[in-house]
Amino acid sequence: MKIDLHVHSSERSPCARSREEEQIQAAIACGLDAMVFTDHGRLVPQTHLEALNQKYAPFRIFGGIEITVEEKEDVLVLGVHDPALESLQWTYPTLHTFVRERGGWIALAHPFRYHSDIVIDIAQYPPDALEGCSTNVAVLNQPRIREAAQQLGIPVVCNSDAHVTHSFGVGYNLLHEEPEDEAHLVRILRAGAFVGVCAII
Ligand SMILES: [Zn+2]
Ligand SMILES: [Zn+2]
Repeated sequence: MKIDLHVHSSERSPCARSREEEQIQAAIACGLDAMVFTDHGRLVPQTHLEALNQKYAPFRIFGGIEITVEEKEDVLVLGVHDPALESLQWTYPTLHTFVRERGGWIALAHPFRYHSDIVIDIAQYPPDALEGCSTNVAVLNQPRIREAAQQLGIPVVCNSDAHVTHSFGVGYNLLHEEPEDEAHLVRILRAGAFVGVCAII
């Protein structure tokens, strides 16, 4: 199963240019089997997610979130639907603990995008993955990201970070098994049972 873990929609992300359904159709046209909406500070309401899944089956749509921590780095979260994710100002250690306690998945989006170093404490609080490829990962930073992930013993995920339909296909992840549900997807990701595929290297 090919899954893009980092996608935006204009309904929930002001910086996105394409609507939710345009993004889903573009992902399907690109040959993906599944995607995760990770809008900035906004979750997809559960009933809406169910309706989208019914409409586009067998294509799968999951609901995550992208959160800016300490005004420094962006973090992707999957598997937690607590509205506190949307409402609180998060520090990275607090968010990490919150997600861990609830059995979720947490990854650092586009490392080195805003700073020449990773400026949150990933040594003390290792995420489940680093994003090693997306439209917002500079090609010259990809080796550093892989190296940092290797040091932490965590995998690299490849995504689109699509804010517009034509960004799909930049990166995706080939899962070793088909997730039955969101909790299963989180287990697969946390176990590193996938291969990240990047089209821009
Ligand atoms: Zn954005
Ligand atoms: Zn993003």
